Amino acid sequence: MPDIIQLLSDHIANQIAAGEVIQRPASAVKELLENAIDAGATEIQLIIKDSGKELIQVIDNGKGMSPTDARMSFERHATSKIRSIDDLFKIRTMGFRGEALASIAAVTQVELKTRQAGSEVGSRILIEGTEVKLQEACAMNVGTNISVKNLFFNVPARRHFLKSPSTEFRHILDEFTRVALAYPGIGFRLINNGTEQFHLTIGSLKQRVVGLLGNTYEKKLVPVEENTELLNIQGFIGKPDAATRTRGMQFFFINNRFIRNAYLHHAVVKAYEGLIEKESFPFYVLFLEVDPARVDVNVHPTKQEVKFEDDQMMYAYLNAAVKHALARYNIAPSLDFSL
Ligand code: ADP
Ligand code: MG
Repeated sequence: MPDIIQLLSDHIANQIAAGEVIQRPASAVKELLENAIDAGATEIQLIIKDSGKELIQVIDNGKGMSPTDARMSFERHATSKIRSIDDLFKIRTMGFRGEALASIAAVTQVELKTRQAGSEVGSRILIEGTEVKLQEACAMNVGTNISVKNLFFNVPARRHFLKSPSTEFRHILDEFTRVALAYPGIGFRLINNGTEQFHLTIGSLKQRVVGLLGNTYEKKLVPVEENTELLNIQGFIGKPDAATRTRGMQFFFINNRFIRNAYLHHAVVKAYEGLIEKESFPFYVLFLEVDPARVDVNVHPTKQEVKFEDDQMMYAYLNAAVKHALARYNIAPSLDFSL
């Protein structure tokens, strides 16, 4: 019998990976914003057209890339963020898998312009479905300007199954909100179909919450701050009247990475017992700082799921921190804090 196994071409491998990493326009938005943050940007602009189907553009004033790195950045498993497996256990960057740009390039048309502080000129690259069409010098500010056009142009099934423009834009807004909440020390702008929807200047977390979620939050926030050996917790919870019937206003960040975690959510909700109705969801924006060695962020390509070494302890600390904050602001009677 003849041998039948073949290695897939890079292009096909990238397209398959893209299926996991880039599910919709919002996934590309997340990856590009995170790259800008990892590049040390202090100002990030997100430009969207046709809910990301036509254009997703991110302009940052970060450290930029050399012309060679600019080309390399689109290779699969190409990253400047880790070198060894040990680095994974001390990860401080948002990215590390080296998959995002390769995946994006596999299913879109990309124009990347980038310039490092030390260079006179920048480099411009055009890529379509992983194929480099052009690379040339260009004039630009220091930083990176990446445009992702015609998402899924070569995967009609995916393009076809995108939801309505308003739903896809909603997902983009969710990603933008999460990233902007996590980095009040970075200025963000969001321009949607030519209209500026957000202009968030550098400020405090409180200013960022209000700037993103609305003035009504100004008087509804209760600060949370708790430092323990295992983790530091800080951020805001909402007063009971900020609770809502639908979810969506619950934000957990582990080492500045937005995550979903039903177990930790429960720890917060439990602290509100008797203060809010059973079916409603309290508002919270909580930042948990843990030793990166104690949390595995490499559970899923989108990194929204994480595994903790000591999740029961985390539950207990978090629950106590929220009760504490509620009590301190005289929202709940002082309870027994036996931790
Ligand atoms: P990862 O972020 O996991 O390393 P990506 O595919 O997202 O993988 O990016 C590949 C590499 O390209 C990054 O490691 C980084 O060195 C470089 N890069 C990507 N975006 C930017 C940017 N906006 N500014 C500077 N460098 C960038
Ligand atoms: Mg990345």
